[in-house]
Amino acid sequence: MAILPIRQLGDPVLRQRARPVEEFDEALLRLVEDMIETMYDAPGVGLAAPQIGRSIRLFVFDDGDGTGARALVNPTLAGLAGEEVLEEGCLSIRGPYAPTKRATGVHVTGQSLTGQPVRFDAQGLLARIMQHETDHLDGMLYIDRLDDEGRREVMRQLREQEVAGERDGRRSQR
Ligand code: ZN
Repeated sequence: MAILPIRQLGDPVLRQRARPVEEFDEALLRLVEDMIETMYDAPGVGLAAPQIGRSIRLFVFDDGDGTGARALVNPTLAGLAGEEVLEEGCLSIRGPYAPTKRATGVHVTGQSLTGQPVRFDAQGLLARIMQHETDHLDGMLYIDRLDDEGRREVMRQLREQEVAGERDGRRSQR
């Protein structure tokens, strides 16, 4: 197991549409183990493969319901229902959080690590994680879902962090 570097805003891999996973092999299992370790270390509640530089349709998540970390391969979301605005952040945009509108319920289909079909309904935080991580696989970030003002505020906070980092003589996170 290894903790992998998390790609940050500005890295082109975060803007690519990831390709489907076709081989459900040992290498995929090992990648998922590393992604789970990286997610917990961050710490975060979800991590998509593009965030560690692999442009494939895979993410790991743990919504804290006691099940532990899970992986989902080649996910598709349907039946988005309801609407809720909650603070959201991203391990690839370190620091800021912003109120972000998401559906409160979603039907999820995809595949397990062995390629078996997976199907479940997600509500609340789990539904939010599914939307955030699936966006990553389409090259999309949560800041794309904010209005101009919200996005400007996130970018302002990022700049402020950077200036503070330079002032303290630390290396910037990005
Ligand atoms: Zn993210």
